[in-house]
Amino acid sequence: MSRSIVVVGGGLAGLVAARHLADGGTDVTVYEQHETVGGRVRSRKHRGFILDRGFQVLLTGYPALERELDLEALELRYFNPGAVIARPGQRSVLSDPLRDPLAAFETVTNTEVSFSDKLRTLAVRRDLAGRSFESLLSRSDSSIREYLREWGFSERYLSNFIAPFYGGITLDRSLGTSKRVFEYTFKALSDGRTAVPADGMGAISRQLADRAEKAGAEIVTGEAVTELKPKRRHTTVVTDEDRRAVDAVVVATQPSVAARLTGNDDIPTDGVGCVTQYYRLEGPPLKTGKRLLLNAGDTAPNTIVPLSEVAPEYATGDDHLLNATFLGENVLETSSEQLAAQTHQTLEAWYPERSFESLRRLETDRIPFAQFGQPPGVHDSLPDVRDGGRRTYLAGEYTEWSSIQGAMESGRKAAEAVLEDR
Ligand SMILES: Cc1cc2nc3c(=O)[nH]c(=O)nc-3n(C[C@H](O)[C@H](O)[C@H](O)COP(=O)(O)OP(=O)(O)OC[C@H]3O[C@@H](n4cnc5c(N)ncnc54)[C@H](O)[C@@H]3O)c2cc1C
Repeated sequence: MSRSIVVVGGGLAGLVAARHLADGGTDVTVYEQHETVGGRVRSRKHRGFILDRGFQVLLTGYPALERELDLEALELRYFNPGAVIARPGQRSVLSDPLRDPLAAFETVTNTEVSFSDKLRTLAVRRDLAGRSFESLLSRSDSSIREYLREWGFSERYLSNFIAPFYGGITLDRSLGTSKRVFEYTFKALSDGRTAVPADGMGAISRQLADRAEKAGAEIVTGEAVTELKPKRRHTTVVTDEDRRAVDAVVVATQPSVAARLTGNDDIPTDGVGCVTQYYRLEGPPLKTGKRLLLNAGDTAPNTIVPLSEVAPEYATGDDHLLNATFLGENVLETSSEQLAAQTHQTLEAWYPERSFESLRRLETDRIPFAQFGQPPGVHDSLPDVRDGGRRTYLAGEYTEWSSIQGAMESGRKAAEAVLEDR
């Protein structure tokens, strides 16, 4: 007899869990409170532009992608390796000379980063190439800053390149995040490429939803689960429209909601946020060679990304689409006008040879909870997908680490646990 399972939340973790559960022969229903699936990975159309929710990228080196996604169907558009280090009146490319021969000369002669630091980067890369992804999350831990100091990197390298680049990945420019996140993403960046789908990051979520539905899962959007009542033989799932008894529940919401629905105190609820602003630009492109611009001279904005140079489908006509991401404690309260003015001034300082009069703000995404906080050691006490062995299971990046990879892996593991137990 097939078992009835409810998945609460249609983010990446919930959608992956639903597909594996349906593949395993269970009768699965996903409840998603929003009208669209995807959770933190969504895109929208705005005046012909594609705007992702915040600046996000797909690292094709993530091991879960091969199992969960049809990358070819996503029509990925690729960034070139590395970044442009920018400060007033100066822009220089720092790439990966092993994978980007065209930028090798610029990289080797880049004066923002010393030759010794370039050699140390290659040594870290060799070290991580010899380790498996699974082993990286259980290695000894420290902050990214301490870890790189132990490797002997200079403070200049940390502030000119690592702070804006990995600050952009961890949303923490102080580099106080767990070095496990650095190692995992560094290895994924070295093993694969950085990309966005031609239709926006939301295409990832739509594809996962299609795959789950094709496997037999039902996805109900616009309906929130308000309460779970575990009983001896079943769990009652209460939604804002209905209630039903099911054999098991996979809670795949963001951590704060998961903690409330399950009462599990091990779920980490601290988060880091950011603000991403989108702009339309007329005139010549920024010519970064499909790379993001890192702010080495100041902290705001942390990065500026010429998205439509990487993925022309993101823009319309001859216009370009740029985004800028702002980090830090007070950024969520800073006005959109002030943030736009900072981006405008920064671009004028970086490109003194041209004008940015045509730069127009499109939208501002304020995201209070983008990732769960990952100080050193946090991964040692994350909850298991089996929520104390009851009929409730947990799926979500917070059972692994905060990323697309972590969310997908967690969804798969939660589904496997349900199938194994039932
Ligand atoms: C701005 C930003 C930048 C990021 N950059 C990257 C990046 O470049 N690379 C990377 O790997 N990761 C990145 N991440 C992290 C990554 O997006 C997340 O870790 C991942 O998407 C989390 O997926 P999830 O399924 O665990 O949770 P969520 O995406 O939070 O999904 C939870 C779902 O549950 C639903 N829900 C909540 N409560 C209820 C309820 N009561 N009933 C029904 N449904 C409910 C929500 O609406 C949501 O759809 C970024 C995140 C953000 C926001």
